[in-house]
Amino acid sequence: MKIAIAQLAHETNTFSNVPTTVKLFKNWEWDHNERIIERHLGVDDYVGGMIDKCNQLGIEIAPTFSAFTGPSGMITKETYETLEKELITSIQNAGEVDGICLALHGAGVAEGMDDLEGSLLKALRKSIGYEIPIVVTLDLHANLTDIMVQEANALLGVNFYPHTDSHDRGREAIGLLEQIIQGEMEPVIHLEKLPLIIPTSTTYASPAKEINEQCWEWEKEQGVVDCTFFHGFPYTDIPDVGVSVITITNGNSSLAEKVGKEVAKTIWDKREEFRPDLPTPEEGIQQALAKPGFPIVINETSDNPGGGTPGDGTFLLKAMVEANAPKTCFGFIYDPEVAELAHQAGVGSYIEVELGGKTDLLHGQPLSLRVYVKSLSDGQFFQSSPMWRGIKVNLGKSARLQTGNVDILVCSVRAQTFDEQVFLLHGMDVKEYKIVALKSSQHFRAAFQSIAKEIITVDSPGLSTCDFSSFDYKRINRPIFPLDSVHDYKKQTSEV
Ligand SMILES: [Zn+2]
Repeated sequence: MKIAIAQLAHETNTFSNVPTTVKLFKNWEWDHNERIIERHLGVDDYVGGMIDKCNQLGIEIAPTFSAFTGPSGMITKETYETLEKELITSIQNAGEVDGICLALHGAGVAEGMDDLEGSLLKALRKSIGYEIPIVVTLDLHANLTDIMVQEANALLGVNFYPHTDSHDRGREAIGLLEQIIQGEMEPVIHLEKLPLIIPTSTTYASPAKEINEQCWEWEKEQGVVDCTFFHGFPYTDIPDVGVSVITITNGNSSLAEKVGKEVAKTIWDKREEFRPDLPTPEEGIQQALAKPGFPIVINETSDNPGGGTPGDGTFLLKAMVEANAPKTCFGFIYDPEVAELAHQAGVGSYIEVELGGKTDLLHGQPLSLRVYVKSLSDGQFFQSSPMWRGIKVNLGKSARLQTGNVDILVCSVRAQTFDEQVFLLHGMDVKEYKIVALKSSQHFRAAFQSIAKEIITVDSPGLSTCDFSSFDYKRINRPIFPLDSVHDYKKQTSEV
């Protein structure tokens, strides 16, 4: 048995002013053939899981094309066309295969194309037809569409946020594909979409935790292959945005529909619980200083580069510099200009900088600071978080700058902080700080939950704020909760 493996993943924040180009993909990952195996073998991610399971089952792998970049703005038309061509050509070049396993995201948007994944799957079907099964892994933040459901044999989403189970889903996708190829499984997919957008919500806690538990109860039922609660990606102004439930059964469409509607009803009943009341950066710092013990981790959810934001927002950093509390650090802010300045000046020098706030006007002004250059690095390390453990990270030229009591890390690639590696790279032990501030919404929890004495999430204006009323949505399907009051959905689900 021979299976073609490919990855093409992007989470598109359509409110961002940073267009997503081939260059951005090439900065992260743009691999063909054996290079894909080299990069992902032994790594805890989707492709790593696929490789692992193929090797376990003795399946021949045809690695084809893998492109990934961190979340950013709209994918340009030209970039989409290049991506589609690379994917289709690479799969064609693999020769005869029994099945195709794709790691997609589910929240990709290109210019003039709302449904990146649906469009890719359609193009792939046009090329290979409907005889060869295609199984797809998706991010929990996928905005699901009918086209994705029609064109794929199965769609498997991660269950956890942080996405610590991407390796498991990769393995599961290959297992399912093998069963389909052997004729032992005929997946039927039901997509249940809700008129609901929710802010980033960890599955470590209520209400997402309970909803997952309900999904897993259903998976124990005879004939139910998978049941997944997709949170959707709310920072995308497309009609199909929002929460959904995918249920897969072995040939039983009415069971798939029943399960999907049951879970959707639970989500709908809990919709008010997905509305956190978060402190401002200033309030968060005061709360942290009032608490005993350390480290207290403060995460700036409103400027989470993992949700396509600039990563150079200054609201939390400004509040920290002003508070000037002992033993505080910020890791990290995106500013390649300042990182370059620090590298030119060298360790041990003082420099005047205008730090951050350069991408747009939403995330705060640049901070005028005189800083001491404590250390410099190339920004490269291997991720140690249980999420995507082993993947090589390259944040480019990086620097540890000090002003007053605050240690500030500056890097040259927009990315969220997953674990303590970027701090270690600059000689900093996060366990020794009173406050450890970082930019991430939930993924940091996979590594920091066990380190932090407590976690305080702060919100402010930003492209990943939890305050949806600050976005100028023009194209999403209305009504949608919580922007509108929606009455009909409950009635519809309660009839099942
Ligand atoms: Zn996600």
